[in-house]
Formats: sequence, structure tokens, C-alpha cells
Amino acid sequence: MMEKTRKAIIIGAGPAGLAAALRLQQQTNITCTVYELRSQPTTLGGAIGIQPNGLRLLSRLGVYDEFESHGYSGTSLTLHSLQGHDVGSTDMVGWAREKTGFGYLRIKRMDIVEILKKAVEKAKIPIHFGKRLIKTENFEEAGDSGSRAGVRVTFEDGSVDEADILLGCDGIHSFVRRTYVDPEHEPVYSGLSGLGALIPSSALSPETTKLINGFEGTLTEEGMLAVNPCLPTKEEIFMFFSKWVPLPDSGDSRDGWEVHGKEEVDGFKEQLLSTLEHAQGDWSNALRELVHGTSSVNFYPVYRLPLGGRWSRGRSVLVGDAAHAMSPHAGQGVSMALEDVFLLSRLLADPERSIEEVFEKYARIRRPRVDEIFQMAADNAEMRKKSTPTGLWLKELKFNTMMNISWAFGLDKKGIKQGHLVYDIDEAEL
Ligand SMILES: Cc1cc2nc3c(=O)[nH]c(=O)nc-3n(C[C@H](O)[C@H](O)[C@H](O)COP(=O)(O)OP(=O)(O)OC[C@H]3O[C@@H](n4cnc5c(N)ncnc54)[C@H](O)[C@@H]3O)c2cc1C
Repeated sequence: MMEKTRKAIIIGAGPAGLAAALRLQQQTNITCTVYELRSQPTTLGGAIGIQPNGLRLLSRLGVYDEFESHGYSGTSLTLHSLQGHDVGSTDMVGWAREKTGFGYLRIKRMDIVEILKKAVEKAKIPIHFGKRLIKTENFEEAGDSGSRAGVRVTFEDGSVDEADILLGCDGIHSFVRRTYVDPEHEPVYSGLSGLGALIPSSALSPETTKLINGFEGTLTEEGMLAVNPCLPTKEEIFMFFSKWVPLPDSGDSRDGWEVHGKEEVDGFKEQLLSTLEHAQGDWSNALRELVHGTSSVNFYPVYRLPLGGRWSRGRSVLVGDAAHAMSPHAGQGVSMALEDVFLLSRLLADPERSIEEVFEKYARIRRPRVDEIFQMAADNAEMRKKSTPTGLWLKELKFNTMMNISWAFGLDKKGIKQGHLVYDIDEAEL
């Protein structure tokens, strides 16, 4: 008789791992234990934009209201020019909101993890912090009541746990992927890096805060500078600058990036103020004020996992960034992790389905969707690349033309470019 999956070990308490624990508890008879290497949730990540396809899944997890009460829900996207005029403006999710009932939320990463963690604790799912996974192995052993097979994990502190399956929700540099599921598949630097800062609106004039009502982007020759409130009544603003940064001379190493990242952070204000030196208009003044209001800046070199690769081996499966980290410029990383979780849980809910079948269907159903969004993120990243003054003018012209065509033909109302936001993973045929 086929063995039933009764226990899962989840490695990583990021959005994927915590959501997986909640969904498996809601939908299956599998009990979960979550292990996270950090001793507590990190402030890294600034604020994250979540789109309708992901928000709808958060609602099904029962945490949407908490998310909404911690984030900023404005849905407008405005592209500003340094010459003092607006290039164009649109409602990013107007059509998708009508179809799904969910819009767009910008929320601090720390709040995402905190809300999900609280829900996991409330559901009485064990979660252990300060646990660095250092070994995974499959085992098969004979016992008094017959043979038993499973996966065994060992942590740095010497503790061990066993389960029927292992979910590697341990992010882009996944230990589970690197050491077991697909060691050949390595993340690659995208060429773009981000500098992000959270600015309290108390550090800004009321005029500046009034100008920030949604995703406010500004193209510069160096890259894109964007700001977006990330608390419900604009008490805090997230500012992020995506720019082209070559690999450090010392190569693609953690030490090299640490040195380079420090230089970028130290030069953040100076560089932006110099970029804004000849900028005109109220919006440029607002940007200068935001730059001056910055006290702490984080630097993130953006890596992505080339498409393809294995997502499972034996009793272990990769979920979220561990399987398919993409550049963040489609704003879909969290939503993709949630879609993975929902599909995997639905497949595991049928106790008659073998683990092999679950993992095979999981990959087969998810891959086309992941490939599409990965490509979209890569295309959006192009807009952020360094350009000459003419290149910058052409980018603005392209955006403006797109906005005008969209407005003239009512394309935004027909959902052009928003189809991916209404995708519902729960409707995927199994
Ligand atoms: C600059 C930037 C901006 C972004 N903006 C957006 C956005 O606007 N919208 C959006 O949807 N997405 C965005 N993303 C992407 C989003 O952050 C990720 O897709 C999302 O966090 C993936 O969740 P995850 O749980 O799979 O991985 P992670 O969030 O990376 O979580 C993995 C967890 O596993 C833990 N872990 C790692 N190794 C081990 C180990 N050996 N043992 C135990 N635990 C381990 C880590 O500590 C971490 O807590 C952005 C990413 C970046 C870098």
C-alpha cells in the first residue's frame, strides 16, 4: 500500500515557508514544522508590492485583512520626468481589481513575515528560529511495524528531525537546492542592483507627502528611482533606486559585494543629488527632500535563477525563490511563492496521490506560468538600465506612447497587460 504523507519539514520562514505551513494545515492532514536560520525576522527587503493574484491567495489564507491594515493600497503608477512634467500615469491594476476584488498593496517585508509568523503561531504550527540546515538525507529503515522511508535533516546545533517530505523554502541561495535537489543550478547576477530606504513622512514636508500617492517612478540616465508609501496613511515611504552595477573587481563573491555595497550606500545621497542637480519642477524638489530625509540605506545586488533546473528530487521539493528566483521588476516574487504553495497543497490534499505524482504535476503546472512571469520581470528590468540622454528620452517617449495608446483605445479597461494578475492557481486543472 502507498505510504501517506503525514509530516512535512519546511526549511525557511520567509513568505513561501510560512504560507506553506498555513495552507497545508488548512487543506491537508499533514503536520508541519518550520525551521528558520535567522534568530528573528529581518528588516532586509524594504517594502514589497503585492499584486491581485497574490492578494487573493492571502485572503484565502485568512491573513489579507492584517496585510491591508499594515500596507498602502494606492494603485496608481505615475512616471515623472526630471524636466518637471509627468510622462504618463495609469491605474496599474484597474481591470484586474474589477475581476478579482483585489488591487495592489505595498507593505514592509518585515510586516509580511511578522503577520504570517503570527498566523502560523496561532495555528499552533511549530516554528523554530536560529536553525541552520546543514544536512539532508533520505532514509529507509525496517522497523517492527514494517519499513519506513523519509527524509532526515540535521541542523548546525546538532538537532535532527525526520518527516515524509521536505519543502525547501529557503530562498534564492537555497541550501536544499545547492546540496541536494539541483547542485548544478546556480543563481546569476542580473547586472542590476537596488538601493532601498524607508523614510518616515515626519522627515518630509506635507507638500512632498501629498505628491506621493502610489508608485511614483522617475527615469534617470543611471536607472529608475521610485517611491511608494508602505504604511496605510503614508506614515512611511519606501524609496528605491534600481541601477546597473557591474560585478565588483574582486568578482562575484560575498566579500566583494560587501565592499562594493558599502561604497554604494555611502555614495547614495551624493549620487542621487548629483543626478537631480539640473532636475526641475515640484516633483524633483520632492525627490531631493526624500534623498535628504534618508538615514539608512540597504544595497541589494539582484540575482536570479536561470529558468529550468530541477524542482524536486526524492522527497524534497523547492518552493518560491528556491525554485525560481526572478528579478523583482514584475513585482511577482511573493505572489509566485504563494501560487506554488497553493498548488502544492492542493496536490498533497489527496492522500492517494504518490509523492512522485505530486512533484511531477507541481512542476508541470507551474513551469509555463513561472517562465512567463520571469520573462516579464526581465523585460521590465531593461527599463532600469543605464542610458544616454537620447536613450532616456526614447524610454520616456515609449512609456508615454504606451500610455496614450492604452488610454485612446481603452486597452487598460480591456485588461491588456493585466491578464497575468487575474490568474487563479486554484483553477489550474490537476
Ligand atoms: C530588492 C528586491 C525587491 C523585491 N521586490 C518585490 C516586490 O515588490 N514584490 C514581490 O512580490 N517580490 C519582490 N521581491 C522578491 C521577494 O522578496 C521574493 O520573491 C520572496 O521573498 C520569496 O520568498 P521565499 O520565502 O521564497 O524566500 P525568502 O524570502 O528569501 O525566504 C527564505 C527564508 O529561508 C531562510 N533560510 C535560508 N537558508 C536557510 C537554511 N540553510 N536553513 C534554514 N533557513 C534558511 C532565510 O533566512 C529566509 O528567511 C523583491 C526582491 C528583492 C531582492
